[in-house]
Amino acid sequence: MKSALIIGITGQDGAYLAKLLLEKGYQVAGTSRDAQMAKTASLAALDIAQRVSIHSASLTDFRGLWQVMVKTQPDEIYNLAGQSSVSLSFEQPVETFESVAVAGFQLLELLRLLGRPVRYYNACSSDCFGNAKDPADENTPFRPRSPYAVAKAAAYWAVANYREAYGLFACSGILFNHESPLRPERFVTQKIAAHAWRIAQGSKERLNLGNMDVVRDWGWAPEYVEAMWLMLQQDDPQDFVIATGQSHSLKDFTAKTFAAAGLDWRDHVDSTPGLYRPLDIKISRADPAKAGKLLGWKAKMAMPEVARAMVEACKIRQGLKEKHCP
Ligand code: NDP
Repeated sequence: MKSALIIGITGQDGAYLAKLLLEKGYQVAGTSRDAQMAKTASLAALDIAQRVSIHSASLTDFRGLWQVMVKTQPDEIYNLAGQSSVSLSFEQPVETFESVAVAGFQLLELLRLLGRPVRYYNACSSDCFGNAKDPADENTPFRPRSPYAVAKAAAYWAVANYREAYGLFACSGILFNHESPLRPERFVTQKIAAHAWRIAQGSKERLNLGNMDVVRDWGWAPEYVEAMWLMLQQDDPQDFVIATGQSHSLKDFTAKTFAAAGLDWRDHVDSTPGLYRPLDIKISRADPAKAGKLLGWKAKMAMPEVARAMVEACKIRQGLKEKHCP
């Protein structure tokens, strides 16, 4: 039986990846900054909270991480942890850098010292590309436009460096935005879906968004964790862009989401300059051809299906709430 360690198992991707690996017969362990207080709602929502072990580990505590590695003896490590909100990174740049880039170095050093072959996945982000003119692929230069993207770019180069210098099986998935019902409401897609659903149920609230002209490539998170796993099953470690290959404006995403709830977004949404980021990526486009060719991976759900599925999930959640707390 293969064993996997997911650093950041309580997050959206951590939970979906844990489910996928359990289905593939792996023994799955994960870390949280505080295992006793860990938010296991995502794991519970997927009905796997009792099937994984969770260990406490601070990402910048070398000794703690070492102990977890010794205890869990993983064949594969997926690093999905760290401060992951672009907006918050403008308010907490140092925390973001430490939890993403410094932590990335810690994990690579640990791998080097472990002295046995372990495959390592690093969660990089399309935000590293900034405003790329053409669809970004694995050869597109990074032009980060947020503290989050600066940290992700540093962690990416650390992985590339250690792979070359020490022959580690380490790779980065450069993932474009991927959504699911497990996204917290501070992320814009869930904020839109939750508002649309509540308004459709009679709420009089209005939805305030930042710049609605930004363009993004939105996919479906459960599909993206499959790509992470595939990367670690290759003969050689390589980096991959993972995306749908289709980009849409936030306005279009909002329109589709409200339409899925039976509403016209123009009656309920305001774009508020106060919510604009200090610096933003205007257009984000992807060319995921390499993943199609070498991993045999292709996104099945594009933005319109993602928007519908997010609203459908709100409906199911409400149904469950009414059933259990009438
Ligand atoms: P989440 O934010 O859902 O999960 C990340 C986990 O990291 C949390 O569950 C939390 O675990 C831990 N964490 C949060 N803040 C900190 C912090 N300041 N210091 C240390 N640990 C922290 O992320 P996702 O699951 O959405 O994404 C997984 C990875 O993929 C992240 O690295 C993200 O940046 C990256 N990514 C995500 C994309 C997306 O669209 N979802 C796109 C591209 C990249 P706990 O509280 O239990 O310690």
